[in-house]
This record gives sequence, structure tokens and C-alpha cells, in this order.
Amino acid sequence: MTTGAALVLFSGGQDSTVCLAWALSHFEAVETIGFRYGQRHAVEMAQREIVLSEIASLLPTGRRLGADTVLDLPALAAISDTALTRDSEISFAASGLPTTFVPGRNLLFLTYAAALAYRRSIGTLVGGMCETDFSGYPDCRRATLDALETAISLGMDRSVAIATPLMTVDKAGTWALAYELGGDGLVSLIVEETHTCYLGERTHRHPWGYGCGTCPACELRAKGWKRWREQVSSPSHPGP
Ligand code: ZN
Repeated sequence: MTTGAALVLFSGGQDSTVCLAWALSHFEAVETIGFRYGQRHAVEMAQREIVLSEIASLLPTGRRLGADTVLDLPALAAISDTALTRDSEISFAASGLPTTFVPGRNLLFLTYAAALAYRRSIGTLVGGMCETDFSGYPDCRRATLDALETAISLGMDRSVAIATPLMTVDKAGTWALAYELGGDGLVSLIVEETHTCYLGERTHRHPWGYGCGTCPACELRAKGWKRWREQVSSPSHPGP
């Protein structure tokens, strides 16, 4: 068991990129895992490759970055009917959950990640799950992850930790953490290369990065950026 190793659930988005930088600064060895499950936009998978190669040379801890594994989970698309995998409109379903919610998605991702971590003797999984902005997603809540941590540790007869560095961090705080971990270089990498937009839009460059600017993911990212810039430009703040 290598307690000094972590496996990061890495999608190529802003949150998982900050989680990757966080893991590189907290663990001696870091691997990544991604999933193809019928996302409408291949751009997400293309951008994750770019972010992975750039972060390795950008951060002093980049030498800790090891293997990347991408798993195909077509079964997840087959059982999902959501805005991310089908051309249905992004809106809020009668349940109150966004239609971008894929039921149980994070439970499956973490369980697959745990199986890989077992084979690699990695003791910690790292994920960008967050209660502050996506409280509608029940599989992003810490209580869910605590229960899953217990289930996986029992089911694999090996202690597995699920670290969630962004759990109580809002989107402004995520930009601030990126700056703290990697300065202007990491902020710039996130702006230019990470993909968050639900519509797969990468033609229009905003101050906070590429995206349609109006889908829920773009709105969150834009609002977080604006709040962070306001915080760092206030005279009392020691930031950039
Ligand atoms: Zn968008």
C-alpha cells in the first residue's frame, strides 16, 4: 500500500484540473483516470490530453505525474437520458435535479477508480466533487462519499480514502486555489485549455475561458471568475 500515491478523477475541466494540481502538491506519485461514457462533445476528451501534458511541465511537482488511464463506459450512456448524453434541452427536471445529472455517475466512476487504484496499490482517490455549487447532485455530497469510502474499503478489504479538496470551496475559491497552487501559469492553463461548457462551445474566448457563456456550467465559471477578480483587486487582499 503506497499511502504517498493518489489517483485523480480527471475530466479536463476546471475543477478536476485544480484537484490534479492539489494532488501533485500533496502526494509523491499521482496517476489520472478518465471516462468515456457518451458525452456529446469529444472536445472534453481532447482538452484533457492537452491539460495533462502542459501541467506536467508547468508545475515543479509535475514530475510526480504518472500514468493516465481512460475507461470506456458505454453502459452509462445506455441507461442515461440526460442533457449531457442526449440532445435534450438543459433545464431542471421535475425532481429539482438538473437534467445534466447522470444518476449514480460519481458512484460508478469512483468504484472503477478504486478497482484501478487497488491494482496500482494507490491508497487515495481524488475527485472534484463539490457541495457548494452543485448541491443538487446527491452523489457529490460528502455524506455519500463517506458511505462509499466505507463500502469500497470493506468490499476490497483495503483502506481507500476519497479526498475531495473542493468539497466546501465555491467557484471563486477554486480560482483562488488554482493561483495558490500554480500561480499565473496554472490560472492561464485553466483559462485557455480546460473545458467546462455543457454545449461544447470553444470558439468564443471570455476572460474566464472558452464557452457559450450561458449554460449553467459557463455561468458558474464566469461568476466565480468575476468574484475572484473582485476579491484580488480589493486593496485589503494580498493576492495577484
Ligand atoms: Zn456553456
